[in-house]
This record gives sequence, C-alpha cells and structure tokens, in this order.
Amino acid sequence: MDRHQSGINRVVNFSAGPAAVPLPVLEQAAAEMLDWHGSGMSVMEMSHRGKEFISIAEEAESDLRALLAVPSNYRILFLQGGAILQNAAVPLNLLRGRHTADYVNTGEWSKKSIKEATKYCTVNVAASSEDRNFTYVPPQERWKLSKDAGYVHVCTNETIGGVEYQWTPDLSELRGEAPLVADMSSHILSRPVEVSKFGLIYAGAQKNMGTAGLTVVIVRDDLIGHALHVTPSVMDYKQQADAGWMFNTPSTYSVYIAGLVFKWLKSQGGLAAIEQMNIAKAKLLYDCIDDSGFYVNPVDKADRSRMNVPFRLKDEKLDEEFLKAAKAAGMVQLKGHRAVGGMRASIYNAMPVEGVERLVSLMREFEAKRG
Ligand code: PMP
Repeated sequence: MDRHQSGINRVVNFSAGPAAVPLPVLEQAAAEMLDWHGSGMSVMEMSHRGKEFISIAEEAESDLRALLAVPSNYRILFLQGGAILQNAAVPLNLLRGRHTADYVNTGEWSKKSIKEATKYCTVNVAASSEDRNFTYVPPQERWKLSKDAGYVHVCTNETIGGVEYQWTPDLSELRGEAPLVADMSSHILSRPVEVSKFGLIYAGAQKNMGTAGLTVVIVRDDLIGHALHVTPSVMDYKQQADAGWMFNTPSTYSVYIAGLVFKWLKSQGGLAAIEQMNIAKAKLLYDCIDDSGFYVNPVDKADRSRMNVPFRLKDEKLDEEFLKAAKAAGMVQLKGHRAVGGMRASIYNAMPVEGVERLVSLMREFEAKRG
C-alpha cells in the first residue's frame, strides 16, 4: 500500500475492470467535485443540456476523435448499457436486411457476442480458436466469411483469455464487403488503431477510459439509419446520432471522467507514446513468466495481450498463498477470472511501470521461496 500525499492509502490495482484510473484524473475530479470551474455545481448535478455539460461533452468527443484519429465520416456516440448491450445493438442496426453475420470466436467475450447475436440472425463462426482452448488468434487467411453477411464481428482483446490481435484485419484482402465490427472494450486507447478499417468499434469505458456506465460507439456514417423497426429507440444509432447522443440522459459523470482521461492521455504524448509504455510493461511481466520454471502463460507469444496477462502457478494449491503475499505487499485484484482460474494481472494505461516492477519482484521472491 502506498501513502498518497493526501495521507490516503492507495493499492496497486490489477483489476480487469472497473479498473485503476490515472491518479491525476482522480485528483482533478476530487478538486472539482463541489464546484466545477466556478459553476457552483458538481458535474453530477448538471443538466445534460446545460452549457456547462455541453462544453464538457464536446471537448471529450473532440479529444477522443483527435487521440484515435477518427475520420470525419465516423460518428462518436457516448451511450449506456455496456459492451453487452452492443452485442444486441450491432445486429439490430447493422444487419440491413441480411440474415447472417460472421463472427470470429477467440474466447469468452466472443462467445457472449455470438450467443446474443443468434437471437437476431444466423451466426456463421468464420473462424475459431476453440480447438486450442482459445490461446491464439486465427489468422485471417483461415477465416471463412459468408457471402452475404451483414457484418463481421471480432473481439480484438479477450480480457479473460489474454489474447490480443496484434494486427488489423483487412476484409478487403478476403474480398469481403461486409463492415468489420470490433469489441475493443479492454484495449481501446492502449495503441493507435486504423479506424478506417472498421465499420464500427465499441468499448465499455471502465478499463481504459475511466468509469463504468459509459459505452463508446464509433460508427461509419453509412451504417447509421438501417435499424430494424423493432429496435428500441435508445439503441438505434440514427436516433442517438441525430440527438447528439442525448436521446436520453447520458451517463454524464462517466463522460466527464472519460474526458479527463483523454486529456491525461494527450499529456502522456498520445497513443503512440502510451503504446510504447504498454509494450515495455507487458514485456517485463511476460519475460518474468517465461524466464521462470514456475509461472506459465498458455497464449501463443505473437497473440499475447499487452493489457490482460493471465498466468498460472506451478501448483494451484499455492494460489491462495500467492494472493495473500500480493495483498500484504499492497497489490490487489490478481485472482484470475472464474472461467479460467489462476492469476490475471490487468495492466491498462493507468498502471504505472513501477506497479508492474513490484509485481515482478514479488513473483521472483515467491518463486525463490516456493519454486
Ligand atoms: N467485452 C469485453 C472484451 C469485456 O472485457 C467486457 C467486460 N469485462 C465486456 C464485453 C462486457 O462489458 P460490460 O459489462 O460493460 O457490458
């Protein structure tokens, strides 16, 4: 545990999400809590249609556009309902009269997306890594796209399995005409992205963009306006786009926090700079795992996630003892997802390199004692 200058104890937080928020963002939010910029109000007390919040919203949107270099023919929507709601919103909006959608299955989050989509259309699993327990990304040459799919869906970072696309799919190489849709919840803003390769990108905010309650959708203009007539209005991209994503009350405080995170990212040098830090942090941890005879990560090296690093100990009977030692050293939320067990260290943008260094020292000490 670290004593912050305010006298408050702060842990090193490896949570997969809701996850650690950059400390300067929390400090600024705390300083502005009672009176935002002389308005005499907290952001959470503002009307979403008042000039104060509108200025926060516009700045957040334009900062995100700049950070990700989102082209002008894409809309950015700050919605609610989480990535899980997008699993339904995507087929409802993007099938556009077609009856099939292609999905690449790389793990637990892909499976959830597939399950939801089957309510609305026939799902063609274009490729799957289930044959090797979701430890790799199926190469694009092996994807079997259907002829008339409404879209092709991928999860570009599997938060539970720790599998990440280190390349951008290019459907034009497969002569596919369907737009590419990506769930980027757990690695958005961790690296630059070629947005123009995608028809739609969605992500929950609670890992790399701040707090839960905000879902970012980035969608190409021509894909807006085709929702099935039964689509709930709040999920219809056109109704939300036309209303400046205020068809209903947005998650105002989460938008504000995301806006502060975007400013923090800019101050770090933007996505190219944060990517270098993320590469360095992930390398520290994977090198520690690979150099040991005690810890194992099962994912193919080329497809390992920089954000979520699952690992097992030589003997799972030692798991509890490891977690206890970590907690005693001020490091928390390292327990792996219940679907896979073991450990998982989520090291999003807000995790400083010192946090990873501390984990690596603990792992080495623990191995020396128990290995
Ligand atoms: N997709 C991915 C890749 C995720 O990591 C998560 C959350 N862990 C979700 C979807 C679901 O997000 P939410 O609970 O915010 O709907």
